Amino acid sequence: MTIKIEHLNLKDHKVALDNPIFKLVAEAASEMGLDCYVIGGFVRDYLLARGIPKDIDIVAVGSGIALAEKVALKFQGRPRVSVFKNFGTAMIRHKGLELEFVGARKESYQRDSRKPIVENGTLEDDQKRRDFTINTMAISLNATDYGNLIDPFDGQNDLKNKLIRTPLDPNITYSDDPLRMMRAIRFATQLEFEIHIESLKSIANNKDRIKIISGERIVDELHKILECDKPSVGFSLLHKTGLLPYILPELVALEGIEEIEGQRHKDNFWHTLEVVDNIAKTTDNLWLRWAALLHDIGKAPTKKFHKKIGWTFHGHEFVGSKMVYKLFKRLHMPLNEKMKFVQKMVLMSSRPVILSEDFITDSAVRRLVFDAGDHVDDLMTLCEADITTKNPKKQKKYKHNFKVVRQKIEEVEARDHVRNFQPPISGEEIMKAFDLEPSKNIGIIKEAIKEAILEGEIPNEHEAAFALMLKKGSELGLLPKTDKYRTSSKN
Ligand code: ATP
Ligand code: MG
Repeated sequence: MTIKIEHLNLKDHKVALDNPIFKLVAEAASEMGLDCYVIGGFVRDYLLARGIPKDIDIVAVGSGIALAEKVALKFQGRPRVSVFKNFGTAMIRHKGLELEFVGARKESYQRDSRKPIVENGTLEDDQKRRDFTINTMAISLNATDYGNLIDPFDGQNDLKNKLIRTPLDPNITYSDDPLRMMRAIRFATQLEFEIHIESLKSIANNKDRIKIISGERIVDELHKILECDKPSVGFSLLHKTGLLPYILPELVALEGIEEIEGQRHKDNFWHTLEVVDNIAKTTDNLWLRWAALLHDIGKAPTKKFHKKIGWTFHGHEFVGSKMVYKLFKRLHMPLNEKMKFVQKMVLMSSRPVILSEDFITDSAVRRLVFDAGDHVDDLMTLCEADITTKNPKKQKKYKHNFKVVRQKIEEVEARDHVRNFQPPISGEEIMKAFDLEPSKNIGIIKEAIKEAILEGEIPNEHEAAFALMLKKGSELGLLPKTDKYRTSSKN
């Protein structure tokens, strides 16, 4: 969800430290004779008046790991300390909070990696290595200035002005760790902040550095952008800075309007972004939001112009669903049921549209419900979000049509139960009835029963299906095992 600023908590930083655990951290640090501070996301989110965050980053001027171990001894139940030696960090989970400890550090980078060379440093060194001024602020946990806000880069002012700005020269910040380009765009989308003009230029200049970032890290940020109230903000920034071709070239390929002989098609890139914003209003399902983002990607490779009928995108749903697999694989996304769900939504994305444009028959609705299964509501949500026409009359008509489709779905489902279709006659029953070994005929009979139900020729019930099985069997030259069945095969 997008973070909204109701008011800023810039006055009383001590309230941020109301939780008694901060006193215990302070006590442990003082006994060890080292200084420590709460820093980063916790301070930012506290000042943004988003309540007290659950993730707490503590920076120690000294060993973060040693401090964590000392702190754990002071907490009730002596929670376990998870130590990440390679990163010099340690984590404690306590009473629903996650405390992360790190030693203050100075970082220097090499060109081909986002892994810095790390040395011990001062608090200010540590603040400098952070990505944005709003993420550099620290609150002291030391006896001399407990509760004071330490803000050398004026993050408070940037919070007030809703600005994403780097503490150092942006060219250094982004080139050192190009993931920060994604983070800048993600924060701008989540917080509804602007990215400082110098930062924006620098992201554009450093865009090809994104190549050193792993798919997983990029996707984490894409997820967070998609989870915002208006994901289009993030995607247009990715587009504007030139990052998008490195990340989702399939979307970039949708941009533009072509005109031949006075016939134009819509710009499917900007249309897609509208669809994503629309769907963000009606669902929090991240994967359905992904489906909205990718629902038209098959349009670029299938686009054709025909003299008589104008622009077509035949088969774009099928092509698009195949492209989803390649895209997920390239970005190291999970190739599991989530991907299959996105593929299915893309593949079926035009089905309710075709239905709504025509006279709606029960059998067409049954087929839609049968094919979409449990995802039929999600599919309807996607199609409703896909309405981006600016013509109010059309807008109203399309919405109404989908309402009718939804009603029909409910009616048909209440009567025929095809949503999670379980054949009323199993293969085993067919084998038993005709005394058959597993063979092709069983499949033929099962398919005939399914088709008859979807077409509405028979109800989705055992008795009717059994009768049809006998009839089909006799057409195939099969003999039922008992006389009882022989008589009923007449109907
Ligand atoms: P969120 O938790 O919403 O993702 P966050 O700012 O808390 O936002 P974390 O990944 O939890 O992000 O990081 C905590 C802090 O560590 C940040 O506030 C920032 O100071 C610093 N940080 C995180 N990632 C980077 C980075 N890539 N470069 C520099 N500093 C970073
Ligand atoms: Mg955090």
